[in-house]
Amino acid sequence: TLDAETLWRQDRDHFVHPFTDFSVFHDKGCELITDAEGIHVQDIHGNRFIDGIAGLWCVNVGHGRAEIGQAMAEQATRMAYFSTFNNLSNAPATRLAAKLAELAPAHLNHVFYSCGGSTANDATIRLVHYYFNRLGKPNKKRILSRHNAYHGTTYLAASLTGIESNNWEFDTLDGLVTHLSEANLYRRPEGMDEAQYCDHLVAELEATIAEIGADNIAAFIAEPIMGAGGVLVAPRGYHARMQEVLRAHDILYIADEVVTGFGRLGHIFASEAVFDTQPDVINLAKGLSSGYAPLGATLISDRLYEVLGTPQGKGGVLSTGFTYSGHPVSCAAALKNIEILEREELCANVREVGPYLEQALATLSRHPTVGDVRGSHFMMCIENVADKDTKALFPVDARVGDRVAFEAQQRGLIIRPVGHLNVISPPLIWTRDTVDEAVAILDEALAATAESLRR
Ligand code: PLP
Repeated sequence: TLDAETLWRQDRDHFVHPFTDFSVFHDKGCELITDAEGIHVQDIHGNRFIDGIAGLWCVNVGHGRAEIGQAMAEQATRMAYFSTFNNLSNAPATRLAAKLAELAPAHLNHVFYSCGGSTANDATIRLVHYYFNRLGKPNKKRILSRHNAYHGTTYLAASLTGIESNNWEFDTLDGLVTHLSEANLYRRPEGMDEAQYCDHLVAELEATIAEIGADNIAAFIAEPIMGAGGVLVAPRGYHARMQEVLRAHDILYIADEVVTGFGRLGHIFASEAVFDTQPDVINLAKGLSSGYAPLGATLISDRLYEVLGTPQGKGGVLSTGFTYSGHPVSCAAALKNIEILEREELCANVREVGPYLEQALATLSRHPTVGDVRGSHFMMCIENVADKDTKALFPVDARVGDRVAFEAQQRGLIIRPVGHLNVISPPLIWTRDTVDEAVAILDEALAATAESLRR
């Protein structure tokens, strides 16, 4: 049995939570989530909620999958951990690498493991630098990222991240990263249509390359749809055109599919299927194991592997990696997770229910505070504004995103506040009925928020 009062106090006194506002945490304390099944989670007081965020964009197959637990328990009992450094290996890591190569676009056949999304991005930058060093191009170091990108919080990944508020109080690796503009259709410059806006962003890339010099730039990293930075869907054709420019300058394209991978946009990987790009590297985490165990992976192209990993290439000792690279229990979880995704055809469910979710959420635009409803399939967002015509925001201390999330949770739905935004990124098992239930709650939550802002 769980003693709610004791746990609440222990948590407040000892657990330093990530991404938490301590000015409110000490009064409010934590909310203990104790149980989860299917699309629902339950708190310690027995209150049940629809999970509208898949944990943190990760529990793609839904909660309480006993078969994933069993696969993990079997592996943990048989051989919980052993190194994968040098030539050591384990069966789940090997099988998962082969499975990922089978699922990935044809040119991506090699897998480097890490512990999550930040470490996948961190390791990728080291791999890319190593690649160009081995090719005798040691000056190709600079990484192009984008404002409002989220790539994690290790020092290197945090430097790639372009959300300013994430880095206000921290140093970043200056000189390593140049941030281009985000692709934000809702807040694009006045008077530009979608096609012109796309031209404008591609021209910025070309100008940046001309300024820095292609000989000094290693790679461009981008989320196919920017997630934590506001679920920003780029203008049509953007990614393919960016890739074309990068290719012409021998700059690698890294797709951060930590969120978009494993079905959220209706395909196992979005880069090729949705955005018509062939990245040199695709980074994965979250939905790879549906959050049942920590795991990250970097899918590497044949072209890079020839230099990194073959005796006939220019490879040497690849001195990077983690104790938990290819952790057998995490890889066992991922294998079972992928088996479920395929067996239950969850990508097809997202392709069917996703457009219905998009349409249902779009009806919420009638609320006076809803400036924009955007996203694609199971990766959606509401942008709250004080004035729809000017797109002016509420003052930060109005905490409008928190208010909407609070009102929704009171009514049985958990969504995620991100500043003035609210993200909806459900488990891939939501049905049309779940969408109806969730959108009805959001409708009430937005009305209650508008009312509370008037008071
Ligand atoms: N990349 C993207 C696109 C993410 O959304 C995240 C986390 O939300 C990360 C990387 C970092 O992943 P992790 O928190 O597992 O380190």
